[in-house]
Amino acid sequence: MLSDQHEMNFFGGTLRLHPSFERTVMKAIQLKNMTCLKYMQVKMPEPAENEVLLQISHCALCRTDAKMWKMGQRDLRLPRILGHEICGVSTESGRRFVVWPGRSCKKCEPCRNGFENLCKSMQILGFHADGGLAEYVAVPKESLIPIPEKLPGDIACLAEPLACTINAMVSSQVLLGDKALVFGAGPVGLLTCLALKVHGSTPYIIDIEPDRCAQTQQFQDKLGIRCATVFDARDFDVCINAAPSLDTFVKGLDYLKDCGKFCLFSGFDRNDMLSASSLNEIHYRQLKIFGAYGCTRIQMENAIGILVKYQKAVRLLIERHIRLKDVPAILPQILESKTMKFIVKF
Ligand SMILES: [Zn+2]
Ligand SMILES: [Zn+2]
Repeated sequence: MLSDQHEMNFFGGTLRLHPSFERTVMKAIQLKNMTCLKYMQVKMPEPAENEVLLQISHCALCRTDAKMWKMGQRDLRLPRILGHEICGVSTESGRRFVVWPGRSCKKCEPCRNGFENLCKSMQILGFHADGGLAEYVAVPKESLIPIPEKLPGDIACLAEPLACTINAMVSSQVLLGDKALVFGAGPVGLLTCLALKVHGSTPYIIDIEPDRCAQTQQFQDKLGIRCATVFDARDFDVCINAAPSLDTFVKGLDYLKDCGKFCLFSGFDRNDMLSASSLNEIHYRQLKIFGAYGCTRIQMENAIGILVKYQKAVRLLIERHIRLKDVPAILPQILESKTMKFIVKF
């Protein structure tokens, strides 16, 4: 519950006011121009009629935040307060929520077909609209997903990336018992393994850096996942890339059995060439290619359930808690892909 409420007399009764209503400014991390990230004072957000003001308790940093700072992103509109992995407290009800970062129209074809993450007029918090690297954020009421008392906020804010991995798994039609190979032993790759495990498939994880595999041995042991720099087997039912190199795609095709599935989950961050012989692999061996971007509200609700059950394991993926003002110094480290999850704690 909110701890520091103010009270005033109102028509003989008592009206409780949260201090946010008295404030006009707040602290935030704003991306002003490409590579120009500032810790600064900004105007408090003003929630629209169907929105609520959320006081942020935790916001996880994501490789996409670092990518936006360094090289931009298709959906980024500047200047922007970044942050889309958000957990906070409603200033109306005092309840804790995570936030589905999308804002969808509910009318277009993808929305009507249950693909609200692909809405034709999608507005994403931290991309098109101001996000969670600030003390407060204005959020559509329907984007709030309640979290149980027993789930700490630093774990709860990982519901968004976990939901994106669930979307990758659903999109690539992973079946019960499928042998799955995940490229990239970073936090998102490991969350993908968790989603696969819960789903009943058998995840393996591959990373070209042996140190990256060794870094999260405890998490892998807890979930029974094998991590290696190379595997001999070429009989995987599905490959999912959680790393931005085109090499993951070329190698992934090679690891698949005939009729196997590849999920393009991480976007590629360089404009590398793809050879015709790689594409011919798809042709001769009847491979299937799927894409995945973002997540839906229901996938976030499912992610909360998984986090409650596996919170001890997931805690192993947190590098450390940081302060909001430390974000500009941390983003370059995230791009180097040597760290786990940084969580901004307010
Ligand atoms: Zn993210
Ligand atoms: Zn729509």
